[in-house]
Amino acid sequence: MGRKFFVGGNWKCNGTTEEVKKIVAILNDAKVPSQDVVDVVVSPPFVFLPLVQSLLRSDFHVAAQNCWVKKGGAYTGEVSAEMLVNLGVTWVIIGHSERRALLGESNEFVGDKVAYALSQGLKVIACVGETLEQRQAGSTVDVVAAQTKAIAERISDWTNVVVAYEPVWAIGTGKVATPAQAQEVHFELRKWLKENVSAEVAESTRIIYGGSVNGANSKELAGQPDVDGFLVGGASLKPEFVDIINSAT
Ligand code: PEP
Repeated sequence: MGRKFFVGGNWKCNGTTEEVKKIVAILNDAKVPSQDVVDVVVSPPFVFLPLVQSLLRSDFHVAAQNCWVKKGGAYTGEVSAEMLVNLGVTWVIIGHSERRALLGESNEFVGDKVAYALSQGLKVIACVGETLEQRQAGSTVDVVAAQTKAIAERISDWTNVVVAYEPVWAIGTGKVATPAQAQEVHFELRKWLKENVSAEVAESTRIIYGGSVNGANSKELAGQPDVDGFLVGGASLKPEFVDIINSAT
């Protein structure tokens, strides 16, 4: 069986109650393929999770943008995986490049977070991706392999993991990877999974692309054999997110 298309919307640190209600209203009215064809997961900031959960159509799901690396406790300002489960949140984004770069999250820390979130029953969108300097130095595949290895060393079951390949140079810049560039890295990531985890995991794990995806470029990217969907930032706050979801078919 083929891999089900996956479209995630990362709202980042954006939105007011009124804006959130408007986005949800657009999503609730949207005509999109059924859940059998595409998983749609939107990721509002923590404070809006209950609101979005209460308003959002039941065939779409909600993700947090982060969670703490271990059981909650004396970790001021953090939100634990247990709390997300308690709220009924099913997904979490881990290892986004903004957190890696701005908050110093290392490959190992991201791997620990993925393992802990999975152990608590969350599904994980695990982000990997190279900077422009790393790409120009020819080390893209080594970088994403090292990021993936740190996860692979800490988990044994990939069923609830979606890997998001998000080149840092493409995030929020308007410089989308070409379909060929995306396909090349997705192919290498799948090969890495095959050689280092298993053929089954390589075949079944969804690898989605993120970085300046919009309603105009999503269809061609979606046509690449190893591109199983998208993680969308800026455009997930706009009506064109519906067009991106519709690039599933
Ligand atoms: C992201 O933040 O995950 C992202 C891909 O952002 P954008 O679509 O805005 O480049």
